[in-house]
Amino acid sequence: MVELKGVKKRFGDLEVLKGIDLKVERGKIVSIIGPSGSGKSTLLRSINNLEEIDEGSILLDGVQVNRPDLKGLAYERHINHIRQNMGMVFQHFNLFPHLSTLENVTLAPRKLKGMDARSARDLGLELLERVGLADKPSAYPNSLSGGQKQRVAIARALAMRPKVMLFDEATSALDPELVEEVNQVMKGLAEEHMTMLIVTHEMAFARDVSDWAMFMDGGVVVEENTPDRLFTNPDQERTCHFLRKHL
Ligand code: ADP
Ligand code: MG
Repeated sequence: MVELKGVKKRFGDLEVLKGIDLKVERGKIVSIIGPSGSGKSTLLRSINNLEEIDEGSILLDGVQVNRPDLKGLAYERHINHIRQNMGMVFQHFNLFPHLSTLENVTLAPRKLKGMDARSARDLGLELLERVGLADKPSAYPNSLSGGQKQRVAIARALAMRPKVMLFDEATSALDPELVEEVNQVMKGLAEEHMTMLIVTHEMAFARDVSDWAMFMDGGVVVEENTPDRLFTNPDQERTCHFLRKHL
């Protein structure tokens, strides 16, 4: 579903991704862990085409994501196709403060897919129910807890019926007691076989939910394995060192 080959990304003189290979098969969940500054966010942003890569290729369900050859309208159309097929959830929820939760969820399908108001409302209510917020369609973001906001953000990302969901530290800005409700929603998606790429600093959650785990440091994948193996018996000293600090 997602395949990266030799992806490199530089910011000026700083090479942030130094040749990343990665595969997420349909319905599988891959977790990425690693210290701050190792390039995890840049990787997810590159996959979602929020960053332009310098070398390598990224495929989404067989379609090339990075297309510097396209210009103008053709490029716009391409970007829309990619964005519609990938939902991304960020550390900070980025909800529209002037829109209700239902409006936050239905905005993209209405604007990008031209969905009519009635169908969008049905879809929005269904998704709010799925994230446990069926009773909050009219609430505004500033009246919600961090956990509720993040669940709205997940519902919003799901509204385009994406093929893949990308999570970038979705729970790291939350108070500890609110983490579990968001994790539960992500687990629910896992049980429905959503294809997911999850960057997280929560080792227990990553181990529990993923099919494959990768440890990144300094712009490279240092080590990858089944979560059982990576979290309990890693091969590389750098992985051991990181896990000792974070488990
Ligand atoms: P992580 O998510 O693993 O903490 P990031 O992908 O955010 O790592 O950052 C990797 C490196 O790239 C860091 O050194 C960061 O300072 C740098 N970086 C990220 N975004 C930019 C940018 N837009 N311009 C310049 N440097 C950046
Ligand atoms: Mg990050």
